[in-house]
Amino acid sequence: MPRFLCDRCRRPLTAPVVKIKVPPPVPGSQTPGVRTRSARLPRGSYAPSFRLTESDIDVPGFIVHPDDVQGTDQHPDPTRSSGCCQGPAGGDGLNLVCSGCGAEVATVQADCYTQNQVVLEPAAVCLSFEND
Ligand SMILES: [Zn+2]
Ligand SMILES: [Zn+2]
Repeated sequence: MPRFLCDRCRRPLTAPVVKIKVPPPVPGSQTPGVRTRSARLPRGSYAPSFRLTESDIDVPGFIVHPDDVQGTDQHPDPTRSSGCCQGPAGGDGLNLVCSGCGAEVATVQADCYTQNQVVLEPAAVCLSFEND
């Protein structure tokens, strides 16, 4: 199965993933005290999302499950990871960097008014079909 790599240093940034269609948005949490929704995608999948009709808070790119992301660090600029509740909202630019080379590679969104997802920046990643 393919996986995403950092385009600059070739470090793996996700577990192996298969392509699926973008699932419909997950509705807001109804559980008191829980502001972050369930993850939008199942584990082991990715969804190309470039037609942002349903919501302007979505970020264009390849959506993956947060737990499938590996080899990244939080962006050193904390304002990139701000949000209104438990954040980050992902509205202030890419907020995950490659832990190998520091390139800005993805946006994690997990606030009350966003989906719970990681969006890989298309220009910063590549899909590798090689087994490792
Ligand atoms: Zn909030
Ligand atoms: Zn890198």
